[in-house]
Amino acid sequence: MSLPPIQRQVSLRPYHTFGTDAFASALAVADQPETLWALWNHPEFRDRPRMLLGGGSNVLFVRDFDGLVLLNRLGGLAEVDSDGSHVLLRAGAGVLWHHMVHYAVERGWGGLENLSLIPGLCGAAPMQNIGAYGAELKDVFHELEALDLQSGEVLRFDRQACQFGYRESVFKRQAAGHYAILSLTVRLALRPTLNVTYGAIQDTLKQMGIVEPSVSDVSKAVINIRQSKLPDPAVLGNAGSFFKNPEVGAAQAAELADRFPGMPQYPGGEGMIKLAAGWLIEQCGWKGKRLGNTGAHAQQALVLVNYGGATGAEIWQLACDIREAVLQQFGVTLVPEVNRVG
Ligand SMILES: Cc1cc2nc3c(=O)[nH]c(=O)nc-3n(C[C@H](O)[C@H](O)[C@H](O)COP(=O)(O)OP(=O)(O)OC[C@H]3O[C@@H](n4cnc5c(N)ncnc54)[C@H](O)[C@@H]3O)c2cc1C
Repeated sequence: MSLPPIQRQVSLRPYHTFGTDAFASALAVADQPETLWALWNHPEFRDRPRMLLGGGSNVLFVRDFDGLVLLNRLGGLAEVDSDGSHVLLRAGAGVLWHHMVHYAVERGWGGLENLSLIPGLCGAAPMQNIGAYGAELKDVFHELEALDLQSGEVLRFDRQACQFGYRESVFKRQAAGHYAILSLTVRLALRPTLNVTYGAIQDTLKQMGIVEPSVSDVSKAVINIRQSKLPDPAVLGNAGSFFKNPEVGAAQAAELADRFPGMPQYPGGEGMIKLAAGWLIEQCGWKGKRLGNTGAHAQQALVLVNYGGATGAEIWQLACDIREAVLQQFGVTLVPEVNRVG
């Protein structure tokens, strides 16, 4: 097997959505599992840092990457099974996430519409159990195939094995760095029940004059909301929400509600209470604040942006300053959702 070319000293700017100018010593594209495995084991890089990159919409390079960046571009999107009520749709890890969503929406298959237009590729979607507008990948997840990067074995993970949580999975915790996700299969409803409980979806459907929405209508509403609320990385570098919404115990939540009337609180996992990270950041005065070439977005404080020319280290410093401010004011520690590299 002949290996694809390995590029040297490559700017990563086109390969991640923060648009900072970190360099990788080497970069290669894998479009087959065998190539991915061979590149991963390339003698030159076996003892050096190696990383997989999808669409680069959830990473922050804080310095140059002195090793091999492998772009996962495994293709293929197909219906693999159907039982009359559901269909299984499988995508290669390198397929654009929204392409999979669009494919399902066009056919009226339900389950992905609330997750329309999330940037990135299918292979990274299970990493943090992507979620938006009242839905999460885990709701429709069937299985994934992953390459064990130590043994070369291809394993299947069902929902339980993935240990999905809020913006979490086993691949971000115990199994971090152990696997390359090769494919993702979701289970979609042929006669869907739509999830339009989220207020913004209801309002947008109303504005669109739609009373009995279809899968396609919900997808369009979500796209409208996202395009009006979130900065487009092609225009303003960002990686979506920089921090997760923090979860606190009931006692702390009650004490916070007492001290800060109007603080939004939602049910979290396992009896915890979820706080809105964007609100906490805004209360600390960071919304729309700019520091040099970086800042917290004017419409959505949770989104840190690169106004042009910012370095990854500057963005990370901004994140640290914001985290410290929230800790001082509320006693709550924000955890980054974005994966720091370096
Ligand atoms: C404007 C904007 C809006 C966003 N909105 C949302 C949102 O609503 N909800 C949400 O959940 N996220 C959101 N995100 C975050 C991001 O889109 C998702 O996390 C997405 O799944 C990342 O995919 P990616 O291919 O870009 O991953 P990358 O950024 O390339 O990689 C993310 C991590 O996964 C690893 N990885 C990538 N591919 C593989 C693979 N095949 N196997 C193993 N590891 C891999 C990488 O090493 C890295 O650690 C948003 C981002 C932006 C820029």
